[in-house]
Amino acid sequence: MGMTKHKPVPLVIFGVPFHNVSFEETLDWMAARVREGRPVNVATANLDFVTQAWNDPELQRLLIDADLVLADGFPIVKLSPFFGPPLKDRVTGSDLTPMLAERAAHEGFKIYGLGSADGVAKTAMEILKARHPDLKVAGTYSPPFTPLLEMDHRAILQRLERTQPDILFVALGAPKQDKFISMHVRGWNVPVSIGVGGSLDFITGEQSALRLGCRSYNWSGFGECASVLHGYFPVI
Ligand code: UDP
Repeated sequence: MGMTKHKPVPLVIFGVPFHNVSFEETLDWMAARVREGRPVNVATANLDFVTQAWNDPELQRLLIDADLVLADGFPIVKLSPFFGPPLKDRVTGSDLTPMLAERAAHEGFKIYGLGSADGVAKTAMEILKARHPDLKVAGTYSPPFTPLLEMDHRAILQRLERTQPDILFVALGAPKQDKFISMHVRGWNVPVSIGVGGSLDFITGEQSALRLGCRSYNWSGFGECASVLHGYFPVI
């Protein structure tokens, strides 16, 4: 029973199911899903996200239903032995995004960058394309920063329908990006969708010093990092 064929058994940490996968297994699983063509969704969840899910039943439900939930940061990995067989590694969205672009270039998969501030998705895709000239970029779109239910969903779905990406990077921040994906994943023809938070900003170098500092200490996700720092330095 290969990891690429089936959903791995999750480890439930504070009510959120995490999948025990490495970067390489994640990339293989995603490539297999693209070849298969049935749409799946992937969430990158850090500790901050888990605590948000406690107070947000919709978020918890969508994490339970997600096809793959990745441990986006070491805190989740360090906590994992208290809940069952430990997770083997963190699989951070900010590291996975460029790796997935590289895999897409090798496999001939088309990628799409949705979200982030105006121009960031486009620049990020240009940077990835410069790194991997074979990379096929289906398109980019940075919609206005409106609440989820006020977004022009139809316009976005039409763009995706027109450009037919294989892999969709959704950078709308958590949990908005995950809710957006879960609203549409069973209806669209995009094989792999993943919520990537600030990963496109990392590629373009738009992230703040605080984020960079957090990242160098392997704390992924601004919310998680900031809440930890805030505990020590309440002025942050
Ligand atoms: N963002 C967006 N639309 C929104 C809110 C956020 O496109 O309505 C983008 C923002 O520009 C950034 C990403 O989503 O690129 C959020 O990154 P952040 O690191 O804050 O999210 P997290 O990693 O904490 O989920």
